[in-house]
Amino acid sequence: MAKKAAVIRGDGIGPEVVDAMLSVLQECNLQSEIVMCEAGSEQWEKNSKRDETYIPDATMDELEHADACFKGPTTTLPIPNAPRSVAVTLRQKFNLYANIRPCSTFERLTPGRNLECVCFREATEGLYSGVEAQITPDSAIAIRKITRPGCARIVDASFAWARQHNMKRLVAITKRNILKMTDGIFWEEVLRASEQNPDIKVSEIYIDNMSQQLVIAPEQFNGAVLLSTNLFMDIISELVSGLVGSIGLIHSANMGDSYAMFEAAHGSAPDIAGQKKADPAATILAGAWMAEYLGEADIGGAVRAATKQVINEGKSVTADIGGTADTDKMAGAIASAALALLRK
Ligand code: NAD
Repeated sequence: MAKKAAVIRGDGIGPEVVDAMLSVLQECNLQSEIVMCEAGSEQWEKNSKRDETYIPDATMDELEHADACFKGPTTTLPIPNAPRSVAVTLRQKFNLYANIRPCSTFERLTPGRNLECVCFREATEGLYSGVEAQITPDSAIAIRKITRPGCARIVDASFAWARQHNMKRLVAITKRNILKMTDGIFWEEVLRASEQNPDIKVSEIYIDNMSQQLVIAPEQFNGAVLLSTNLFMDIISELVSGLVGSIGLIHSANMGDSYAMFEAAHGSAPDIAGQKKADPAATILAGAWMAEYLGEADIGGAVRAATKQVINEGKSVTADIGGTADTDKMAGAIASAALALLRK
């Protein structure tokens, strides 16, 4: 039976890049059923801001009845009493504890720099637990909640990825010299898993040094799984993304034990929304991963390879990576290349 994916187009450039991704998958004859639904700040404002969430009940219902979901970028308004981010809400609701961001350089964009690594971010705890308290009018605290089961499952997922992808190195990023208890639990779980995986070389690096090392000598992390808690890896994975050439190229998946949400790493980019300037690559790569997750690995593989080919050729690419094509033209080039690969 065909599987089903619920797709949120999102805010800002979201509809442009999500439509581009869907057109590529449809050209490749994706068999899975796609159900469109709304979420984000634009629909919230359109609906007179009446909900306490950016995700209407009807959308939540569709998401619950799908095998996976795709989330276009959504705007999170930085105003008091505005709802919580769609991504954070869905990660917690569906227990999508592993945010996985594969990062690979492209020959044309960063000649001489060859970096291929994957960022594993715990996505349900840490400083994103959403527990804050106002102590006095002039002071407030945020809780960095870290639990052993929460650490164990992301650590195990990262070692499993290393095994599946034949990666022999895992770098755990902490600030254990200062956060002795919270990062202490995290590191104990890394050591436990390391004993069970003796062929994978494990090292620990503090977040401040890691930031510096990534800037001065990123290649030293080639072939490594990078692993950390929620906020640390949110920042480090963005730094790694910057090394690849454009945030418009970086995709991710949020995986739980029985559900997954796929998305681009970038936001809703209000500065270029509605202009068809957005690079669709990240969204298309996330769509390829979703196709694989839904059991259509041939389409996923072809779209992935075609995206790489089009980016490296540089003839039909958007301005962020040196081209003059618009979003639809780049997606069209990827669809043609993917179809050619599927017909081989
Ligand atoms: P952003 O990623 O939207 O934009 C940062 C810069 O990158 C901008 O100059 C933008 O034009 C550019 N950019 C982003 N995507 C691009 C693409 N596909 N092609 C070409 N250029 C691209 O980050 P921001 O400006 O910090 O955030 C804007 C909004 O997005 C905020 O409301 C934020 O909360 C939200 N956001 C959402 C997600 C998500 O949904 N997962 C992630 C990050 C930010």
